Amino acid sequence: MPKEAPPPLWLLAELTWRCPLHCAFCYNPVDFARHEAELDTQTWRNVIREARALGAAQIGFSGGEPLLRDDLEELVGYARGLGFYTNLITSGIGLTEVRIGKLKEAGLDHIQLSFQDSTRELNDFLTSTRTFELKQRVARLIKSHGYPMVLNCVLHRYNLPHVAQIIEMALDMGAEYLELANTQYYGWALLNRTQLMPTAEQLREAEDVVNAYRARVGERCRILFVVPDYFEVRPKACMNGWGSVFLAVSPDGTALPCHAARSLPGLTFPNVRDTAIKDIWYDSAAFNAYRGEHWMKEPCRDCDERHTDHGGCRCQAYQLAGDAAGADPVCSKSSHHGVVEQAVKLARRHAEAHDTTVQPLVFRSRENSLKAR
Ligand code: SF4
Ligand code: SF4
Repeated sequence: MPKEAPPPLWLLAELTWRCPLHCAFCYNPVDFARHEAELDTQTWRNVIREARALGAAQIGFSGGEPLLRDDLEELVGYARGLGFYTNLITSGIGLTEVRIGKLKEAGLDHIQLSFQDSTRELNDFLTSTRTFELKQRVARLIKSHGYPMVLNCVLHRYNLPHVAQIIEMALDMGAEYLELANTQYYGWALLNRTQLMPTAEQLREAEDVVNAYRARVGERCRILFVVPDYFEVRPKACMNGWGSVFLAVSPDGTALPCHAARSLPGLTFPNVRDTAIKDIWYDSAAFNAYRGEHWMKEPCRDCDERHTDHGGCRCQAYQLAGDAAGADPVCSKSSHHGVVEQAVKLARRHAEAHDTTVQPLVFRSRENSLKAR
């Protein structure tokens, strides 16, 4: 099948699922602790070389926390030497003066630092750690080494009311780019959806605040506000299309067209330990399963918008409607759209009534992961 598929542009190297933080909205798979074996340095070098040979131009080193790998600097240097634009996606924990110096020497182009809130209390609560001051120090370190300050904060019901303070904090940190990403409900966030999902009013108010700041700060800091798709009537163009631009490699070597795809039934995802990247990308059944439009059913098959959103997200279609080849239920044309509306209503009732019958937040931890079915 489609040798005409374009080559991947993005390689996401998920070096490890270990992480010192325990975010309740973590996008890692809930059962991460069952896949603990990690690729060694040589295998990662092979992956990087093969992906570059295929045409990939950007590499993101992520996790878990990629700084937990001692070979991060070596892999960054190797990728840079091959001509990759290199990104580090980090919580900042473990980024010392020595390590950032080595990463700079290795040619690291870009660092994206995540933080959770403008208050110590919520930052520490949401991550189950005491890391608030540490993140401030890391932000200063990044700045002092001449990197652009690129910050990311995941938004949800708990921190949306602080959005002005979050922006102020980012400006104080010297942010040139701030991504305010409303929670996407995969992994641990799906488990905690009812507790994390905001109300429509909260979102509207936050968006007004963001727009006022945009007008005030202009080019000094670009502020991106990503609306949660549960509040939309059309889905996102997930991964810009399955097997179109994005190749993720998990810590255990499983290759995926999107980092959440592992949850989909009926697909055997290839592993970089025994299959070449070229074969994975062009020839594997898993990467071809939802590539293009051959798999679409009604209402997507004859829909005018299918070239724009590619039918939405396969993982969300499966999670919410039990059919990975169906339209993403976020779409109002999907016969399962009511599931999304119900989830929003349930979360609203929970928010308004402080419904204590709903389980408390489940934090991402090895112990909770091993308990997960
Ligand atoms: S979301 Fe939080 S727990 Fe998950 S990998 Fe990122 S920093 Fe770690
Ligand atoms: S029916 Fe399918 S292709 Fe059309 S807008 Fe909805 S998800 Fe997109």
